[in-house]
Amino acid sequence: MSDLFINGVWRDASDQGTRTIVCPADGSTVGTVDEAAAEDAGAAVAAARAAFDSGPWVDTPGPDRAALLHRLADRLAQEKDEVARLEALDTGKRFVEAQLDMDDVIAVFRHFASLVQVDAGRVVDTGVAAVSSRVVHEPVGVCALITPWNYPLLQTSWKVAPALAAGNTFVLKPSELTPHTAIWLVRTLAELGLPEGVGGLVLGSGATVGAALTEHPGVDLVSFTGGLATGRRIMAAAAATVKRVALELGGKNPNIVFADADLPAAIDNALTAVFLDSGQVCSAGSRLVVEESVHDQVVAELVRRAHDIRLGGPFDEDAEAGPLISAEHRDKVQSYVEAAVAEGAQLLVGGGPPADPALAQGSYFLPTVLDHCHTGMRCVQDESFGPVLTVETFSGGTADAAEDAAVAIANDTIYGLAGAVWTENAGRAERVARRLRHGTIWINDFHPYVPQAEWGGFKQSGVGRELGLAGLEEYRETKHIWHNTRPGPAGWFEDRATKEGDA
Ligand code: NAD
Repeated sequence: MSDLFINGVWRDASDQGTRTIVCPADGSTVGTVDEAAAEDAGAAVAAARAAFDSGPWVDTPGPDRAALLHRLADRLAQEKDEVARLEALDTGKRFVEAQLDMDDVIAVFRHFASLVQVDAGRVVDTGVAAVSSRVVHEPVGVCALITPWNYPLLQTSWKVAPALAAGNTFVLKPSELTPHTAIWLVRTLAELGLPEGVGGLVLGSGATVGAALTEHPGVDLVSFTGGLATGRRIMAAAAATVKRVALELGGKNPNIVFADADLPAAIDNALTAVFLDSGQVCSAGSRLVVEESVHDQVVAELVRRAHDIRLGGPFDEDAEAGPLISAEHRDKVQSYVEAAVAEGAQLLVGGGPPADPALAQGSYFLPTVLDHCHTGMRCVQDESFGPVLTVETFSGGTADAAEDAAVAIANDTIYGLAGAVWTENAGRAERVARRLRHGTIWINDFHPYVPQAEWGGFKQSGVGRELGLAGLEEYRETKHIWHNTRPGPAGWFEDRATKEGDA
């Protein structure tokens, strides 16, 4: 095995810990990997600290750093199917989806490679002729990168690519459930010339390895993607040494459909919004907020279509959606649905695992629609992270009142990651998009993103932004350098000895 990468060496866990990775599609064993102890995390941070402080990567010219990112993208393009297979087995997601994820990873590495080369800081006019003053950007230092299981390599690329582009060193801790593509990534970077110590990999649980990283005084930045509860813990742990934190947390994302929308398109996209990757998407459109006059038509059609969605494993070519990540997670989604029904939601379709015996070994859950929901319910406020759609209805006596009602419902959440509005009225679309307190808004669409645009949450969906230009800024410090080319006394404090001597 030797799956931990510390100071340029592949190693076993110091206490010989291991973990077996299971494919959630059928319970088969994917492999056994090393499970680090807290002291391995400490060793990885020490190596990353030494590599940062001794400067081999910080001092590497930007174009050379960019070239490494491009080489990684090239290699992934060559090995795409093999890496997608690893991802599909770890997550249970469809192979074709994993292939699309790999295309996105390639685009992310190329995006950050393109940004490295363009920013040389800026000169500031101080108004003092003898002073040359400039603002420059420098790497933050040692970055702890902690990632989730739903898009393992993609979420990792959102962090590793900008961290390296900006000249940092890093220790990566992927989700303990889905480590294989992280191993591929770090192995490939090392093969392609990443200097010793610049990139470390520790596999293991959040409670042990993740916590050790967030508490370690040698870490300058923790960049985390995962659940809200974990994000809160990480922020609290980081406070002890005032680390910088970047948090990409959950979402409870409204998908607003006005009566004047292109309804066939809105309905079809509402399915993708919530059932893509079986709802295990932070930006899943898990809240349908639909105008009352078209509620019955929209919901009837959604239920019919949801009922027909075909579930299956990664290599089942007929499958349209895969399993949940684990049996524990499936049980959580089940109890979420039961609690919703107890709260008064009406279960229209789904609500439990499929009856198909061919799927019995996997953690499958049927696409589920819950009607008659409102913002007072837990099922509307809490993230299920499963294939569960809640339906809320709005109306208004006037067009303005309907807009106000839709916006009020959509914003009534502690989250603020993403949302969508469907309408054929361009003015309304713009007005509603501006009023929604969410980090990404789609108008007449759902889910597309590009690495050139920022991604991240308002409110408790997170702190900071990934991707775009801001996604590089997370990994840089800003420094002001003031250079007085004609130094002389400040003259603020009187030099009494000189004065008395003169007298
Ligand atoms: P999680 O919070 O359980 O785990 C995420 C990572 O944090 C894992 O690597 C885990 O081992 C680690 N971790 C757990 N406890 C830790 C601790 N105390 N200290 C340090 N690290 C710890 O989340 P998950 O179940 O893997 O992923 C699902 C969640 O991720 C969902 O809430 C989803 O919305 C969110 N997510 C958000 C985005 C986004 O862009 N906003 C993207 C993907 C997923």
